[in-house]
Amino acid sequence: MSVEHVDTLIIGCGQAGLATSEHLNRRGVPHLILERNRIAESWRTARWDSLVANGPVWHDRFPSMGFDEMDPDAFAPRDRVVEYFVALAGQINAPVRCGVEATSLEKAADGFRVQTSDGEIIARNVVAATGAFQKPVFPAIVPTDAPVTQIHSHRYRNPQQLPEGAVLVIGAGSSGAQIAEELMEAGRKVYLSVGPHDRPPRRYRGKDFVWWLGALGIWDTTTPAPGTEHVTIAVSGAHGGRTVDFRKFAARGMTLLGRAEGYADGRITFASDLKNNIEMGDANYLSLLDRADAYVAENGLDLPEEPDARNFDPDPACVVNPILNLDLSEEGITTIIWATGYVQDFGWMKLDAFDEKGRPVHQRGVSEIPGLYFIGLPWLSRRASSFIWGVWHDADYVAEHIAGRLAKVA
Ligand SMILES: Cc1cc2nc3c(=O)[nH]c(=O)nc-3n(C[C@H](O)[C@H](O)[C@H](O)COP(=O)(O)OP(=O)(O)OC[C@H]3O[C@@H](n4cnc5c(N)ncnc54)[C@H](O)[C@@H]3O)c2cc1C
Repeated sequence: MSVEHVDTLIIGCGQAGLATSEHLNRRGVPHLILERNRIAESWRTARWDSLVANGPVWHDRFPSMGFDEMDPDAFAPRDRVVEYFVALAGQINAPVRCGVEATSLEKAADGFRVQTSDGEIIARNVVAATGAFQKPVFPAIVPTDAPVTQIHSHRYRNPQQLPEGAVLVIGAGSSGAQIAEELMEAGRKVYLSVGPHDRPPRRYRGKDFVWWLGALGIWDTTTPAPGTEHVTIAVSGAHGGRTVDFRKFAARGMTLLGRAEGYADGRITFASDLKNNIEMGDANYLSLLDRADAYVAENGLDLPEEPDARNFDPDPACVVNPILNLDLSEEGITTIIWATGYVQDFGWMKLDAFDEKGRPVHQRGVSEIPGLYFIGLPWLSRRASSFIWGVWHDADYVAEHIAGRLAKVA
């Protein structure tokens, strides 16, 4: 089979690949995108059916295209997000080849040699846009042969998919909180294991949370505050967007638990940290309110005051007297959903471009290997980097670097 030569190869056609393509197009840089499945595959098959975007459509979009028929304050359903990226690919004429997987990447004399499921490609530049949330992970607490169905949140689709019975959701970030609420609303008995988390207000003083992230400069933070690198964030666009409030979940019948710690003989043990985790989440919530109030005062803005936002419901019984030990069978728990996040996986790249934890070494997506780039990673340049809104701006920088490099080697 003949070897194909391209200037710049983008691997992955989610939002990160498309953003890079758009910016390369603007600079007239020839490129090709390989996508092993379909455009925006993660939004199609690694998300549950009812998922809506976490940010309103005025925000969770690229500057070059809107969600024109939608109310700007609405949250786009998953399938609409897929449509959006497919339409965007058409609008920018993205040179995407779907159904082709990059299986290995190594250095070549003039760039990189990429083995694909459809032959070999030599590229001067390679942009890895293979996903911020690549490989689902969950702690090995409950053995796989325990008498309970266990799935990761990326395999969760809807309540009907699960066996009859109660459900234990472990992890209370955006995925865990939303899935637990959906299951409760479908009539399931739900247990939710709540670890350390941030839970910002959905709206405050008439502005959405993401508006505040922008106004307060939080989206542009370049490094996480020490100790907060792994704190999950519980936000939701479901039901038109509501603040995630675990006390309210409990008042509606959900049982909250601390962090899952161990398993023996059909029983799961939980840490006694639930109250602390809830209170730390409150503190995070209140700190955003404080910063927002200070911003309003400093800038003389006319935004309606909202004193009620500072009132919390009383702690529910499951927080006051936490359950530390749960017998799965006695509680009728037939499913555990691990909403415990993802890790990156670049095992297919045979390059010395990673640190001891397997994370890419780079500056704003520009790796130490000339011609190799990463895009879409958490904190690539700042907090917004792995989100729809942020990746577009990061891709501009990466494309500029590529264009400059090609100009030098031409
Ligand atoms: C549950 C969940 C909900 C989220 N909701 C939001 C939200 O509402 N708003 C927001 O801004 N962000 C959200 N995010 C974060 C982020 O926007 C998404 O994860 C988004 O899909 C990341 O885009 P990406 O292009 O970086 O990666 P992906 O969308 O994962 O795209 C990577 C693409 O690369 C392809 N690929 C991978 N490996 C190869 C290979 N070797 N060869 C060829 N192709 C390959 C994959 O098939 C995939 O299509 C969410 C994340 C999760 C997990």
